[in-house]
Amino acid sequence: MKTYQGVIARYRKYLPVTKDTPLVSLQEGNTPLIYASKISARLGPKFKVYLKYEGLNPTGSFKDRGMTLAISKAKEEGVKSVICASTGNTSASAAAYAAKAGLKCIVVIPKGAIALGKLAQALVHKAKVIAVKGNFDDALRLVREISANYPVRLVNSINPHRIEGQKTASFEICDFLGTAPDFHLLPVGNAGNITACWKGYKEYFSCKKITHLPCMLGFQAKGAAPIVKGYPFKNPKTIATAIRIGNPASWEEALSAKEESKGLIDAVSDSQILSAYKLLAEEEGVFVEPASAASVAGLLMLNKRGFFGKIRSKNEKKNIVCTLTGHGLKDPQVAIKAVSSPPVIEAKTEAVAKAAGI
Ligand SMILES: *Cc1c(COP(=O)(O)O)cnc(C)c1O
Repeated sequence: MKTYQGVIARYRKYLPVTKDTPLVSLQEGNTPLIYASKISARLGPKFKVYLKYEGLNPTGSFKDRGMTLAISKAKEEGVKSVICASTGNTSASAAAYAAKAGLKCIVVIPKGAIALGKLAQALVHKAKVIAVKGNFDDALRLVREISANYPVRLVNSINPHRIEGQKTASFEICDFLGTAPDFHLLPVGNAGNITACWKGYKEYFSCKKITHLPCMLGFQAKGAAPIVKGYPFKNPKTIATAIRIGNPASWEEALSAKEESKGLIDAVSDSQILSAYKLLAEEEGVFVEPASAASVAGLLMLNKRGFFGKIRSKNEKKNIVCTLTGHGLKDPQVAIKAVSSPPVIEAKTEAVAKAAGI
């Protein structure tokens, strides 16, 4: 039996690797594409909605797809240290892959703006974590300057290897469905992922693996919506810390993905994000972090506006994919706040049965 060895081994002919590239992998990718029956029902009989559950990657987010390649290439090129700015998941992923590769990892984070689970990951993997008095955009500016002047490799998504690795999510979706989806919805923060997924579809299209391209629909949070508004946000605010970004690095590329695919980039409010977050957990059994729910929040918003009602299809159903970027356990604080805490009662059978409502 040949075991699964991660996205580089699986899609090597589409990636910038040679037989001399060391493979630093934690068997990322190969994540489930879950059919969402309840959400599909809301859209009506013409649609099938699937959830690409990227929270099941080794460090709990899609960032691992790009990090396996970025770290493998860094190792191939003899780099000893890597650095990143992070809203949390990039640092968790960089720290884990650097540990696996035996590289030093430096992480610069905005003070107080990282979900607890993600900070724990970076620290446990022994990254050098430095919090700065500023936001993500400040942290990114700093690591860009440092990597230009010191012997450290930048592994944020401006590193082209990150984008290359992340495009494998599109390959998996097409391989699973046997065709490209008709719509692909995803959260947009620094905009690397929408850029990567669109690149993946275009490559599969030019290799004739698929016969059409999806329409790309990206969603920012209302309080951090620079691409939607057309100007950088100085103080981005949203409960969805992973997309709390005021000046996305891949802004232009995200606009190209939108325009070339005849899609859109829109904004959803924190309350829409939280409703989608709860819906996913309560009705589909899928626990995600708040930023991930932006794709489904966007789907429900467009549906309410009649966006999908206007779509024509003969007999075939239209496939819709929502990327769920990260795992719910990353951000336990939001989860606990979103629900009511359990009642405390006497340790007696009758009392428990009564409280359970049975
Ligand atoms: C990084 C991240 C995003 C945003 O992705 P970009 O490539 O920065 O647009 C969204 N959700 C989660 C959970 C993330 O970790």
